[in-house]
Amino acid sequence: MNYSFWEKYFIESPTDVTVIGSGIVGLSAAISIKELRPELSVKVLERGYLPYGASTKNAGFSCFGSVSELMDDIAHMGVEDTMEVVRMRSLGLDKLKSRVGIQDLEYQHSGGTELFRKTDLALMEKCLDAIPMCNSLMKEHLGKDDCYTFQTQKLLSGFEPVCIINAHEGLINPMSMMLSLIRMATAKGITIINGIDVMRIDKDNKYLQTTAGLKVQYKKLLVCTNGFAAALLPKIPVTPARNQVLITSPLPDNPLSSGYHLDKGYIYFRSYRGRILLGGARNIDAINETTTDFGNTPLIQQHLIQVLNTIYPGAESKIEHWWSGILGIGESKYPIIEWVDSDILVGVRLGGMGVAIGSYLGDQLAGKLINNV
Ligand SMILES: Cc1cc2nc3c(=O)[nH]c(=O)nc-3n(C[C@H](O)[C@H](O)[C@H](O)COP(=O)(O)OP(=O)(O)OC[C@H]3O[C@@H](n4cnc5c(N)ncnc54)[C@H](O)[C@@H]3O)c2cc1C
Repeated sequence: MNYSFWEKYFIESPTDVTVIGSGIVGLSAAISIKELRPELSVKVLERGYLPYGASTKNAGFSCFGSVSELMDDIAHMGVEDTMEVVRMRSLGLDKLKSRVGIQDLEYQHSGGTELFRKTDLALMEKCLDAIPMCNSLMKEHLGKDDCYTFQTQKLLSGFEPVCIINAHEGLINPMSMMLSLIRMATAKGITIINGIDVMRIDKDNKYLQTTAGLKVQYKKLLVCTNGFAAALLPKIPVTPARNQVLITSPLPDNPLSSGYHLDKGYIYFRSYRGRILLGGARNIDAINETTTDFGNTPLIQQHLIQVLNTIYPGAESKIEHWWSGILGIGESKYPIIEWVDSDILVGVRLGGMGVAIGSYLGDQLAGKLINNV
């Protein structure tokens, strides 16, 4: 890279706070820091031309949990921890809506629908039985009434006619969300520098080594690199998980009216301006999908195509585009907010509902950081 003296000086000079990663977490944290302490200088370093992880590649579900996912999480994490994570998602969505605005998010209050395959009758029965318990948990922890109801649906004949609706979920456009956050950050005087790939953190000398040979000095550092965190901080327990997605061209009489969850949330689909967007299924090839490499694989593609044809027979021929994104997962669905050094705070492991939890995590990181500047 052929940096001029001016560019090198600008990029390498320390600011009060340096953030690595301009996804929803990095930008939300940077904005919250400026809201709390406008006098602090904040710089965000991003290796992509845009955020290049999950925040502009996700499916745009504004969701906090289907009944089957909730039951699964309760079985693994217990009720209290599960509901604490659900509460974070719900608070995060409230914050996102109030910060960015419904219009700029292209928010549609469509509800969320959990569908069941015709072979999943046992799971369906279990979930239907669990609705009263899940509703009382949502009332107790989120103050939300009548969150889940079961209904019958006829449009998607390839699935069981009984489905479960979450009345409080919706859909957004993730690109619009991130563009709004970028505009907001810039308006607050936050410097976002794209094309800066941080290769190593030198904790002793407090600088970041970039792949292009720059040494960026930092005072306080916030690492918001989610699924890519292990490359800079190998001890942080975050595992990358690739998610593959397809979108069709606009389809006549597209039957989708909300965001749909299938297979405990591993598969998700929705419509966007008449198109069908469908993604997930990383659980069918967990080992190969544990990667920070972007890409699509025949195994997952075939699986998603099969689901697509169940939703809308013949839609396979209308697939217009495939992509993938990388999220960060771990043993627990709790995000990690942790000081790994006196000047380095980490905010990662957003799981599959990072659109929901991101703004909440940003606030938490900002609160912790400004107490220490
Ligand atoms: C396909 C897909 C679908 C999803 N669907 C949904 C959904 O519908 N609803 C929902 O709530 N969540 C969804 N998620 C999850 C959600 O998108 C993520 O949890 C969330 O975007 C994570 O935000 P983040 O800011 O932590 O990470 P990211 O958005 O990944 O941002 C991290 C940034 O750090 C940058 N970076 C990494 N390493 C370096 C480095 N060394 N130097 C410089 N920069 C670096 C990356 O380029 C990236 O831009 C989905 C995820 C995927 C992949």
